[in-house]
Formats: sequence, C-alpha cells, structure tokens
Amino acid sequence: MPTEDDGAEDLPRPLRQPERAVIERLLAVPFPGRDELLAQLGHTVVDGGCRCGCATINLSVERSAAAPAPVVTTAPVSADLGEGDSYAGVILLVRDGFLSCLEVYSIDEPVRSLPPADTIRPRPAR
Ligand SMILES: [Zn+2]
Repeated sequence: MPTEDDGAEDLPRPLRQPERAVIERLLAVPFPGRDELLAQLGHTVVDGGCRCGCATINLSVERSAAAPAPVVTTAPVSADLGEGDSYAGVILLVRDGFLSCLEVYSIDEPVRSLPPADTIRPRPAR
C-alpha cells in the first residue's frame, strides 16, 4: 500500500517523460500482450521505487480503465544497457496482466538514471 509521504517524493506520481519513453521503446517490439500493455500506459502511475538509488520504478495501472495483457511470461521484454565493462539492463515486469515494474539492474554501481530511449534495443522473451 502506498504510504502518505515517504519523504523523498509524493507517490503515486505520473510517469516522467524519460520513463514513459523507455517503456514505449520496450513496447516497440511485438510480443503477446504488447498492445494491451501499450494501452495501459495512459492509465499507469508510479507508486514506488528502489531504495538503493537506482532508476527502478514500481508501476500501478488503473485496472478498471484497461484490459489485462495476455503475456506468456511476467518479464515479456528486456534490454541490455551495457556500456564498456559495465553490465546492466532493464526489464519490464507484468503482474496479473498489468504493468508492475520497470526494473533497472546492474552488477556494479546502481544505474541512477534511465538512458535515452533511442539507445535501447528491446529483446522480447522467447
Ligand atoms: Zn535499486
């Protein structure tokens, strides 16, 4: 459940433009449920993040306003963000057919901000 005030920022909050752009980029490749996830974006807010300082955001969809997506996996699309020696990536996570998280992971330093969407090469799950 969202708390009243986490101190850092007011939640839930609208998606920021770079976040929306990255999600739209991940949804630019076709996979089962993609169209439904795209339709959910307009009804999605951010209701949390990761305390490590990375750019991971938890997503919450207004479920009465959008249909669940018939995805075949809870992680239907991802992308590598590797640069040089670093290894990192983003994964779009889906729960009960609804967007639930844009997870940013790395093995070294936390990825604190999302890369420009046009540098992302989305890879659908097989
Ligand atoms: Zn984190």
